Amino acid sequence: MFDILQYPDPRLKRVGRPVEKVDDSIRNIVARMFKTHYAAKNCAALAATQLDMPDPPHITVIDFSERKNSPLCLINAKIVASSGTVCEAEGCMSVSGVYEKVKRAACVTVEAINERGETLHFTAEGFMARCVQHELDHLAGKLFIDSLSPLKRARLLRKFKKTRKQL
Ligand code: ZN
Repeated sequence: MFDILQYPDPRLKRVGRPVEKVDDSIRNIVARMFKTHYAAKNCAALAATQLDMPDPPHITVIDFSERKNSPLCLINAKIVASSGTVCEAEGCMSVSGVYEKVKRAACVTVEAINERGETLHFTAEGFMARCVQHELDHLAGKLFIDSLSPLKRARLLRKFKKTRKQL
């Protein structure tokens, strides 16, 4: 398992290292990421850059099924097409307790490889589209609160600090 880094840990600004070869060391990281994911409450997805590991590779693990039996691992994922816009509330495992509306593309086409080295190409909408965009932001060193207005962000962070103190 990995620890999930909490804002404002500076390591959340790291960028995912492109994976050159999907080998056992990568599959080992993927397995540990899924373990961390399934052990965390209300977790939909995790990016390697939000976890306590050195030199995180460009990997995200996603599963928001009710029974936690639909794991999806995306390695070196990129969005090759997007359309529409939606603005819905979003949360993040690294900024616990903060939910805010974030503008996202409604529909995204994704290219990636999985933990078996197979090429994936799919179009997602709804929550999956939001998830992929949120995680790819993490792998680019960005948090969802970065896109908010400074005023809104300041207000949310005050609330976040308060919640953290109560833990
Ligand atoms: Zn997040």
